[in-house]
Amino acid sequence: MMASISKNVFLYASRNGLLNHAAKKWGLKFGASQVVAGVNIESAVKIVRELNQQGIACTLDHLGEFVSSKEEAAQAAEYNVKTLEAMAEAGVDSQLSVKLTQIGLDVDRAFCVENMRRILEAAKWHGNFVQIDMEDYAHYQLTLDILKELRDVYGYNNVGTVIQAYLHRAGQDVKSLKGIPLRLVKGAYKESAKVAYQDKRDVDDNFLVIIKEHLLSGSYTAIATHDHHIIARVKELVKEHSIPFDQFEFQLLYGFRTDVQLSLVREGCNVRVYVPFGDDWFGYFMRRLAERPQNVSFALKGFMSK
Ligand code: FAD
Repeated sequence: MMASISKNVFLYASRNGLLNHAAKKWGLKFGASQVVAGVNIESAVKIVRELNQQGIACTLDHLGEFVSSKEEAAQAAEYNVKTLEAMAEAGVDSQLSVKLTQIGLDVDRAFCVENMRRILEAAKWHGNFVQIDMEDYAHYQLTLDILKELRDVYGYNNVGTVIQAYLHRAGQDVKSLKGIPLRLVKGAYKESAKVAYQDKRDVDDNFLVIIKEHLLSGSYTAIATHDHHIIARVKELVKEHSIPFDQFEFQLLYGFRTDVQLSLVREGCNVRVYVPFGDDWFGYFMRRLAERPQNVSFALKGFMSK
């Protein structure tokens, strides 16, 4: 009961435009620096380098929410291009993750595609790969359509996306995306029973189904989870089907389960950490607190120490 109340409070805060806007001026607060790699590219690249030294690859995500004008979307796209340049210049091992709403999906679809093409051109120039994060269901089909357009019409093969196991249609979508590098996740948004499983066990079962589907189709698969039960099952699965270690990776979020990250590296698995950064950190931080109430304790500790 308390967990569900706190979850809803954090989700409400994550969507509150005024709070998100105000937080941009605060700098990282409430312990957010444990899960957000600073507010600028320099601090993020520094953290990526430290993670690389521990055998961990990264994907950088420049945080940005509530984009409602072409100007903001163009600025966000430009910042992503700069991030790719900064990573190349620093010689770090990191990809890029992008949310389509940040580069104008809600403003103008064609403009968003144009922005994505700019980012992908820069990524191609630097020999890098861009993963399009998956957002809520309202943007789901649009995201898949744009991915298809970018790959099939414009010929970019350095782009993939994310499929959420809580969606009933996830299995079909993974089948239709055979051959495309995908990140598979349980799903982070609150979706209706019409489109998504509501029971954790159903989500977990479907997660394993789609992981198996993509791996056995020979496609590169990123399994993004902090769930040690799922990680253990994936390890069994790859052993059972002799899946080569270079066909999959585990992904975890920056600041979460660092013990698991390092033990996977020691076992010889590819590990990639998703590293968010930027002054628009508040919504991301609130969603992480909503996901796992235990995280509240470190937020409170951070709050007390500020
Ligand atoms: P959960 O179901 O949260 O946890 C299962 C069990 O694992 C828990 O009961 C606990 O026993 C253990 N556990 C979990 N976390 C911890 C912890 N911190 N410490 C100790 N034990 C723990 N979602 C999207 O919708 N779109 C995206 O694009 C997207 N990208 C993502 C990228 C990455 C790299 C990751 C890791 C997640 C991403 N997500 C995304 C979020 C994802 O959908 C889930 O909401 C989130 O990962 C929580 O689910 P879980 O699989 O980690 O396990």
